[in-house]
Amino acid sequence: MSVLNQSGEEQVECPLCMEPLEVDDLHFYPCTCGYQICRFCWNRIREGENGLCPACRKAYPENPADFTPLSQEQVAAIKTEKKAREQKRRNKTLESRRALANVRVVQNNLVFVVGLPVRLADPEILKRQEYFGKYGKIHKVVINQSTTYAGSQGPSASAYVTYVSPADALRAIQGVNNVTLDGRVLKGSLGTTKYCANFMKNQPCPKPDCMYLHELGDPKASFTKEEMHAGLHQVYERKLHNQLLASQRDSNNSSGNSSTNAEKGSSKDGNPSNFIPTTVVTSSHINVVNSSKSKKESVNGSSGGGSGSGSSSSSGSGKDAWPSLGSSPPAASPA
Ligand SMILES: [Zn+2]
Ligand SMILES: [Zn+2]
Ligand SMILES: [Zn+2]
Repeated sequence: MSVLNQSGEEQVECPLCMEPLEVDDLHFYPCTCGYQICRFCWNRIREGENGLCPACRKAYPENPADFTPLSQEQVAAIKTEKKAREQKRRNKTLESRRALANVRVVQNNLVFVVGLPVRLADPEILKRQEYFGKYGKIHKVVINQSTTYAGSQGPSASAYVTYVSPADALRAIQGVNNVTLDGRVLKGSLGTTKYCANFMKNQPCPKPDCMYLHELGDPKASFTKEEMHAGLHQVYERKLHNQLLASQRDSNNSSGNSSTNAEKGSSKDGNPSNFIPTTVVTSSHINVVNSSKSKKESVNGSSGGGSGSGSSSSSGSGKDAWPSLGSSPPAASPA
């Protein structure tokens, strides 16, 4: 029986005990029918069991039907060749791992936010319901001390907020982006992570709480530094936002008056010192939708809005939530 082993090499295994055949067993045919088993199983059948070939039910002959033992030199040569193949494979793995030093992987549940007032630069504060807690369950918050710098408006802080759900992370970004807080504009985006140095050396990582990657990330979310300079990770993130908005729009249409979760969250606490005013949430939604629309138009060369299926089917309460899309059908305008 021929199967692929872990390193992708073909190997033959004994059909009875499923162990890979020894180099010597590869030339061991105990029965005239040609059915191959390992010598261990052959001995067991002849000495402890019925002594019949499991395939053709003939009694095994005294000596194997066909067996040319390899010389010690042949066995040694095969083993050396195998070792060389393994070494080559290991080198190849190392080579590709080393190339990962230049790669960052966008984490779909990680929000990186800059421009935070220093008074909020505390994980426990940011986790609260009136701040990042309103968008969903938070796994952890890490304040990025190193980028706390003093601009013209005084020092500000940045933070990494890890959500349990990727959709919550996207809604948090849509919620905080371009919000002005203490006279400073917040900017949110999906955070990236690099590969652990130990992983790149193909070694186990000794740090139990190591924050870096120890397995290969999603290729679609992986970007070299050059690709990030070209903004490709932002294109990727925009796509995720648009997918989420499209799914929210769909559920809006099907469920009538119900608002999206993001709107529910921000309108729940309507006090004047609200972290993210509802109006800003709405306008940042429009920004995202508009950017996707203008991109589509430039690609397709079509003019005027409302070419997508989602916009033409939006109606009623959906019109209020998506004003930039709901007003386009000419039939609705007064003659
Ligand atoms: Zn066996
Ligand atoms: Zn047989
Ligand atoms: Zn590590």
